[in-house]
Amino acid sequence: AHCTLALVKPDVAQDEQAVATIIGRITARGYTIKDRVEITLSRAQASAFYAEHSDRPFFEGLVAFMSSGPTVALLLEGDDVVRGWRMMVGPTSPATARQQMPQSIRALLGDDGPRNAVHGSDSAESAQRELGFFFHPRIQA
Ligand code: ATP
Repeated sequence: AHCTLALVKPDVAQDEQAVATIIGRITARGYTIKDRVEITLSRAQASAFYAEHSDRPFFEGLVAFMSSGPTVALLLEGDDVVRGWRMMVGPTSPATARQQMPQSIRALLGDDGPRNAVHGSDSAESAQRELGFFFHPRIQA
């Protein structure tokens, strides 16, 4: 089955009601949450996770934000879940999301700048790499 990484970013991860809303949308859509961890990323971990953006002007602010508090990482499984979760997340900018995809999670819960509530891997290859940051393979009992 297909898997992807969902992150609830530090602007939202400590809001239990918002996390419950996100999880409710995921399961209502038919996806399964196979694993869940909560972690406060170090600056080094946040920099490594977003290494592809290291030359961008927003990188420092992104790393500071992502290491500012807990992140909830979810391992999602389901049919076409990489694309499906990205659709649920909506456009990168919450302001754009509110204009173009008002039902999306970023429209509902995002703020501005890097504070856009959630992350989703953008391809199956990214998902494999990014899931490795948060989860380790386990042998099923
Ligand atoms: P994510 O990878 O987190 O799902 P995305 O793929 O929609 O988001 P990217 O372009 O990969 O967006 O940017 C990664 C993250 O960097 C964004 O989610 C956001 O938190 C932050 N970011 C992107 N563009 C900007 C910007 N112009 N200003 C501030 N922060 C930004």
